[in-house]
Amino acid sequence: MSNMSNIKVVKFGGSSLADAGQFRKAADIVLADPNRRFVVASAPGKRFKEDIKITDMLYACYDKAAKGEDFTDDFSAIENRYNEIISELGLDISLAGEFERIKSAFAHMAGRDYAASRGEYLNSKVLAAFLDFEFIDPAGYVKFGENGVFDLDKTISLLRPRLEKCEHAVIPGFYGSMPNDTIRTFSRGGSDVTGSIVARAVKAELYENWTDVSGFLICDPRIVDDPAPITTITYRELRELAYMGAGVLHEDAIFPVRTAGIPINIRNTNRPEDRGTMIVAESSEASKYVITGIAGKKGLSAINIEKDMMNSELGFGRNVLRSLEKNGLNFEHMPSGIDTMSVIVGTEALKPVQQQVLDEITFRVHPDHLEVEDNLSLIAVVGRGMRKARGTAGRIFSALAHAKINVKMIDQGSSELNIIIGVSDEDFEAAIKAIYEIFVLTEVR
Ligand code: ASP
Repeated sequence: MSNMSNIKVVKFGGSSLADAGQFRKAADIVLADPNRRFVVASAPGKRFKEDIKITDMLYACYDKAAKGEDFTDDFSAIENRYNEIISELGLDISLAGEFERIKSAFAHMAGRDYAASRGEYLNSKVLAAFLDFEFIDPAGYVKFGENGVFDLDKTISLLRPRLEKCEHAVIPGFYGSMPNDTIRTFSRGGSDVTGSIVARAVKAELYENWTDVSGFLICDPRIVDDPAPITTITYRELRELAYMGAGVLHEDAIFPVRTAGIPINIRNTNRPEDRGTMIVAESSEASKYVITGIAGKKGLSAINIEKDMMNSELGFGRNVLRSLEKNGLNFEHMPSGIDTMSVIVGTEALKPVQQQVLDEITFRVHPDHLEVEDNLSLIAVVGRGMRKARGTAGRIFSALAHAKINVKMIDQGSSELNIIIGVSDEDFEAAIKAIYEIFVLTEVR
């Protein structure tokens, strides 16, 4: 049995394996550190902005096949992408047999999940050959239950003994199988989840997630020019900043490693010298700034409810929320006062059921006043440093007042890890800039 300590699991995203040049960079990274023994691969992603990801090509191709249309050309385009990588890397392998099998499975309605999963399957075959690592098909190890929900315990109990027997392996990301052995994928971006599962299975010391950015930034670079990077962030902070992590790391990639205390390091395949962002359970490292990050969301609506003596009316809140629940509407936030309560919901989700929801609230709680306010944004200011620092809220409000921004709502979570502020959509960018400025640009600690 091989030694299972100091192992690093490395996952490469689609853009990190989009062509032969990117394959070389990924291989250099893997081979530079003997602890990088298990590699999880995505399907080839975009090589340039207008390019199409293999996963999307596979979905489109399968949709044609399922309608009984001719999909030969679409399939050839996919074959070409792989063949190009193989020949440019000078590899002595052929995927012709695999292509034939997959094509025939398409014709026999093997399923959309099966179709999409072939992107990582084929890419991992190529990467395993290039690295001279073993190829392990997750279909036999990554397991979903009858209900389609991923089964972590079962997966670990199958995968761990398999990987203990193995020195080096490439494992395709994104998929596993159902109890009846049909292929099932995670949601889009799910190779991140596979990486996390593999890290858990081998009790890795570190899960490196290699992508095309050097980690997280304190705020959106489309709003603030060249924002400072986040060097360390805790799992909880990241959850609070969920809107921000979106697009870099799959939300479900946290839980398999979190309980095992395995940190995730977001790294940039194109700039391997950058340290990236460390995602950790607890950080003893004092953060450089009081805040760790600022993120937000536009396009929200507030349902404002007013009623005298609301606070003493038993079941008031429950009745309001039931009115939402009955209409399939979930809420983002629920700030309240003595005789007022607001429920913040996504405008797009609200509009089709707005009248029903208002009627239901009226019927259930007979409010004195009821209105919907649109064009609302929420901004989360998050930081473990806020627990120790005093006056954080005061600084936020003076910065916003200075920028002539009207604050419509405020909420501090009990964890003292975040402050949430509601502003109108048109003030969203200016508010983030003002907060960034006060905490990062003019920070003196
Ligand atoms: N290839 C899949 C996708 O595009 C999974 C992944 O890349 O993580 O969503």
